[in-house]
Amino acid sequence: MAIREIVQYPAEVLEQECERVTVFDKKLANLVKDMYDTMVAADGVGLAAPQIGIAKQIAIVDIDDENGTIELINPVIMERKGEQVGPEGCLSFPGLFGDVKRAEYVKVRTQNRRGKIRIIEAKGFLARALQHEIDHLHGVLFTSQVLRYYEEDELEQSEGV
Ligand SMILES: [Zn+2]
Repeated sequence: MAIREIVQYPAEVLEQECERVTVFDKKLANLVKDMYDTMVAADGVGLAAPQIGIAKQIAIVDIDDENGTIELINPVIMERKGEQVGPEGCLSFPGLFGDVKRAEYVKVRTQNRRGKIRIIEAKGFLARALQHEIDHLHGVLFTSQVLRYYEEDELEQSEGV
């Protein structure tokens, strides 16, 4: 197990388009494992590769539900429906939280660490986390979409992604 350092804003790697993954090897599997360890250690519900300094289309989401850890490699949002507005934070912006408008439902086509294609349908908080992580892979940060920032005492507990 290896915990990587989380890149904090501002950093060039957080705002660039990430490269697609074409090689599904042991190195990729180890990277995904490190990302998981790093996310858990940081108490997050998701982590994208650029957040540990790697500009590749790799992210994970784990909101502690029956889906377990969702591996997002070269993910594409195929469908969006509805909308939700809710609080969001990011491990690359410690202590910063704001309301962000997201689709209520998304259908995502992704690959796992072995290259296997998976279709994920999600709504609510899981859909929010997926959209946040997929944005990271295109250099889009949640701060570009915040409708309103929270004051420090407004949120008792929050989860970064
Ligand atoms: Zn984030």
